[in-house]
Amino acid sequence: MARELLLVGGGHSHVEVLRRFALDPAPDVRLTLISRDRFTPYSGMLPGYLAGHYDFGDVHIDLAPLAEAAGARFLRDSVDGLDLAAQRVIPHDHSPLTYDRLSLNIGAAPRLAAVPGAADHATPLKPIDGLNARWLALLERLQHDPVSKTIMVVGGGASGVEVLLAMQQRLQRLCRERGLAESLLRFCLVTRGPRLLANHNPRVQRRFARLLTRRGVALHSEAEVVSVGAGRVHTADGRTLAFDELLWATQAGAAPWLADTGLALDGAGFIRVDDHLASVSHPHVFAAGDTASMVNYRRDKAGVHAVRQGPALAGNLRASLHDRPLTRYRPQRRHLALISTGDRYAVASRGPWSWSGNWVWRWKDRIDRRFMARYRPPLPTP
Ligand SMILES: Cc1cc2nc3c(=O)[nH]c(=O)nc-3n(C[C@H](O)[C@H](O)[C@H](O)COP(=O)(O)OP(=O)(O)OC[C@H]3O[C@@H](n4cnc5c(N)ncnc54)[C@H](O)[C@@H]3O)c2cc1C
Repeated sequence: MARELLLVGGGHSHVEVLRRFALDPAPDVRLTLISRDRFTPYSGMLPGYLAGHYDFGDVHIDLAPLAEAAGARFLRDSVDGLDLAAQRVIPHDHSPLTYDRLSLNIGAAPRLAAVPGAADHATPLKPIDGLNARWLALLERLQHDPVSKTIMVVGGGASGVEVLLAMQQRLQRLCRERGLAESLLRFCLVTRGPRLLANHNPRVQRRFARLLTRRGVALHSEAEVVSVGAGRVHTADGRTLAFDELLWATQAGAAPWLADTGLALDGAGFIRVDDHLASVSHPHVFAAGDTASMVNYRRDKAGVHAVRQGPALAGNLRASLHDRPLTRYRPQRRHLALISTGDRYAVASRGPWSWSGNWVWRWKDRIDRRFMARYRPPLPTP
């Protein structure tokens, strides 16, 4: 009898699982993908999309044809509960579905609720097309009412810095094209710690600090935002900073519904998994990407880990369905980060090393495009 494999979330790991099932079908497995969105964004290219270097299709994987190629049923829906005893998932709009093996790759959720007022006044980074539409609407408004506006980003990690520089590049270019003064838009970055890009080496941090100064971005460091009101953020040390548009780019948290599932979770609410990417409490449930917390390795949440886990997850899901031994996955300790600056220029960061230039951006562009091409049917033969 066919065994049921249920994939929840169309994240960076599950697209690889689908690709591998497409290249090597398993006739005795019934595969179902449930994902909230049909188009899954590839994080590495999102800042380039905001900067205007890529269009929507360049930076999103269409899950429908990929699922079809894998012989999977695709349900566009959000899962908000599990019944682990009955081996069922509970989608929002469909009837519960049973599984023999379940895999969760649902990413992380913006943590707006942690700061009073943030949910009412701030825009999270994802979904990124919503964010894009919002900034373009701001430009329309400026056209009719050209008074200066302050765009504030809270969060000084790589994604906050990249998004700020990308938006600045795009909006300033559009201002020039529409005959508006660039100076109408002010940009500011608010970060809790003393330095930007806390997970990167001091050379990278200095490069970006200099770049922000050159680009006229006001940097507020050691400014932990503790509450947000209309047009104002308040910091722990008593500062009040004004904004017209607020973008929330702090570290994301776990999906709140996981807390009610009975799965073993870490202190931040992410699913604890072993070296096989299987839940430590429920071995028929697997998790990968941001939503997983490997108990034997501490790693930052980054798309690169989700991508690397994809092949191991695919192999272990298949092995587990056939009661074969699973393979251990060991995440790399350091990974290469290519951080773009909005203008087809990028900074490479790995451990203590750093390089930068237009050539780094072209290198990143080649890697990213090659990655995306893997998931566009017809899929390349193995
Ligand atoms: C602007 C920006 C730039 C970034 N740049 C980089 C970078 O250059 N390099 C890097 O390594 N990392 C980067 N990151 C981090 C990266 O985006 C995340 O680490 C990565 O997306 C995590 O991948 P994932 O597969 O775990 O989940 P995601 O890519 O978030 O995918 C989750 C999927 O699950 C679906 N889903 C969510 N909840 C549910 C639900 N309840 N039911 C069903 N489906 C659901 C979603 O629709 C989505 O398809 C960046 C992040 C941002 C915001």
